Amino acid sequence: MYDYNKIIDSVYKQTKHIKSGKKAHYIPELAKVSSSIFAISICDVNGNLYHKGDYTSKVAIESISKLFSLSLAVKKHGVDTVFKKIGMHGSFLPFNSIIAAKLAPSHTINPFLNQGAMATTSLLYQKNNKAFKKSILDNMNDFASKRLSVGKDIYESESETNSINMSLAYLLKNNKRFYAPVIPTVDTYTYQCSVKVTSDDLARMASVFANGGVNPKTNKELLTKKQTEYILNNLLPEGLYEYSDEWIVKTGGDAYAKSGVGGGILIVIPGVCGIGIVSPRLDKHGNSKRGVSAGIKLARKLSKKLFKKKSNKTRKRYNSKKNKTRRKK
Ligand code: GLU
Repeated sequence: MYDYNKIIDSVYKQTKHIKSGKKAHYIPELAKVSSSIFAISICDVNGNLYHKGDYTSKVAIESISKLFSLSLAVKKHGVDTVFKKIGMHGSFLPFNSIIAAKLAPSHTINPFLNQGAMATTSLLYQKNNKAFKKSILDNMNDFASKRLSVGKDIYESESETNSINMSLAYLLKNNKRFYAPVIPTVDTYTYQCSVKVTSDDLARMASVFANGGVNPKTNKELLTKKQTEYILNNLLPEGLYEYSDEWIVKTGGDAYAKSGVGGGILIVIPGVCGIGIVSPRLDKHGNSKRGVSAGIKLARKLSKKLFKKKSNKTRKRYNSKKNKTRRKK
């Protein structure tokens, strides 16, 4: 059993000083959020919540919403169909690269890049626009165990500056890799990105994946284990965009992370806990700079796969046992 308060406290102190990075400006409303927000929350697989910092401050969920549209898509169509219709390759190019979408053999690539994510949302299309949006928000609410709300200003700001996403969607449509009308689908994708969340919300949402698809707070099965694994595995190549490889090397591959340009990061440590971090200044790829640094430290402390540092006491005991056996020989 971990002392989560102690772990959060120590990582918070070690990373609080990080002030580098820049807020996202390509969506004007995102640049207005306070740069100083910093919050870390953990929700364990029993549904207990721990937090420190500005855990009531809300930011736009942005790309982290891609996790939940993918969840709904695998629930509706099954893992095999989603795998065939979307794809999984990472691109080594930015998350909204038109070149990447053009060059990819499937033209969609990973569901966590914008083109793959919008194609995923197209798999959820409903003719009634209100019902389409509602089904996506209801699903996110189920993961958060509460009613989330959409940031109207963010949604409007993003809708006005959506040309690249529209281009990506039309490119996919032309290649028969987009499965619904472009305009209402991109509109709904923009809507899902504008949902506001706190670090607590992100930790709760992450805890469902950590708990194999069952929400530990409500006991509702939102995904099967197979679906949960499929979603998490897709995060490895693209969850943190071009930083994803470095994240795996630094954390040991047992921590699955998704970032959003609003400054949030959601991390899943399977069987252990979900983590939510909010800190709006971003690195050059679009990941929260301080959030990634704190996330690596947390993942290293909580991952089951990594060799843990032995305490001096344990080490001494171990060494003296080894010496005794040597002496006997
Ligand atoms: N709504 C943003 C976009 O489509 C999400 C990008 C992100 O968070 O990485 O550009």
